[in-house]
Amino acid sequence: AGQKAAYRRVLLKLSGEALMGNDSYGINRQTIEQMCQQVADVNRLGVELAIVIGGGNIFRGVSSGAAGMDRATADYMGMLATVMNALALQDALRQMGVNARVQSALEINQIVEPYIRPKALRYLEEGKVVIFAAGTGNPFFTTDTAAALRGAEINAELILKATKVDGVYTADPVKDPSATRYREITFDEAIHKNLKVMDTAAFALCRDQKLPLQVFSIFKPGALTRVVCGEDEGTLVHV
Ligand code: UDP
Repeated sequence: AGQKAAYRRVLLKLSGEALMGNDSYGINRQTIEQMCQQVADVNRLGVELAIVIGGGNIFRGVSSGAAGMDRATADYMGMLATVMNALALQDALRQMGVNARVQSALEINQIVEPYIRPKALRYLEEGKVVIFAAGTGNPFFTTDTAAALRGAEINAELILKATKVDGVYTADPVKDPSATRYREITFDEAIHKNLKVMDTAAFALCRDQKLPLQVFSIFKPGALTRVVCGEDEGTLVHV
């Protein structure tokens, strides 16, 4: 209560795995509801929020499951998986009373609107949560790149990358207990120290566009609200 937003418009990248909870694949009901609750809280604070959703919980184009399959075909399957996740998110948000709209980079007109930038911008201004599905619409890319791309297109002030680990660490905190979290770091430092933040295409796009990104754990209760309020949560990567 009493928290004040530090940003007007942000883009949240949710990985498909984030929807799995402790299951080995698919969508865990309790997990998606907890996540949508955090989104609803931020929406109620008046922050304009767009979401890019991944698909790794359903299909990953480069996984062993797709071994032997034509890469582009496998990637299109991965993009279709993100559409399923987007519909599940939209449904869960609506059940919580949050107005949400899916826009897809691939046209599937019976179930989702196509991506139309001015329409997305209008929805955001109206306080609706916009969920971008099907990544960039192109094989050989990832939803991280889609997050950087859409984030730049909608003039988001910050990309929020929700991960399992609550930020960028000096080393892998699972393997090295002495690893410490960076509160903030520059793009150049992250490259220099060889820290894996996002895939290289996504990272380069954010850096070129001077679009800051914050890595945090969505599994910490209230973390999303703390991030949009500019509190110490996760790691801020900036120019
Ligand atoms: N994908 C793609 N182009 C895109 C976005 C995604 O080809 O612009 C495919 C790719 O096969 C990827 C899959 O969709 O493995 C799921 O996306 P991603 O791995 O980024 O999902 P996440 O790891 O966030 O769950």
